[in-house]
Amino acid sequence: MKKAILKPIKKIALVAHDNKKTDLIEWARFNKDSLVQHKLYATGTTGKLLENELGIKINKLESGPLGGDQQIGAKIVEGEIDFLIFFWDPLEPQSHDPDIKALLRLTVVWNIPVACNRATADFIISSNLFNTEYERIIPDYETYRSRL
Ligand code: PGA
Repeated sequence: MKKAILKPIKKIALVAHDNKKTDLIEWARFNKDSLVQHKLYATGTTGKLLENELGIKINKLESGPLGGDQQIGAKIVEGEIDFLIFFWDPLEPQSHDPDIKALLRLTVVWNIPVACNRATADFIISSNLFNTEYERIIPDYETYRSRL
């Protein structure tokens, strides 16, 4: 069975839709001391807000509707993202709905922990596994790859 070793310093992607940005900023402020020990990525606007409001360093990608979700998805495939904190808006349709679905799909394809609301994010960040090494099972797609 293939496994990815998640180092104590995790690579975490943070994304929030506009109506959820306040929630994410509040959550990140509360958990700032933990978060700054990790390598943080975010879609463009979310990242700018996190940097401005909390003064923390974020690797900013493109804004979500301009391809930022897809950039995070590509990083998941390449093993460059360990966690996704994605506060998506359940009440408003988004111009980039297909990208959102694609990103959430890839978290399942590659067995990446994902939090879509604050309660789940709380459980993830307070887990004993968050600051230790963790062996994430990489699903075996060899049969799928070698099909004719
Ligand atoms: P944003 O993108 O951080 O650039 O607003 C988030 C999203 O809508 O996916």
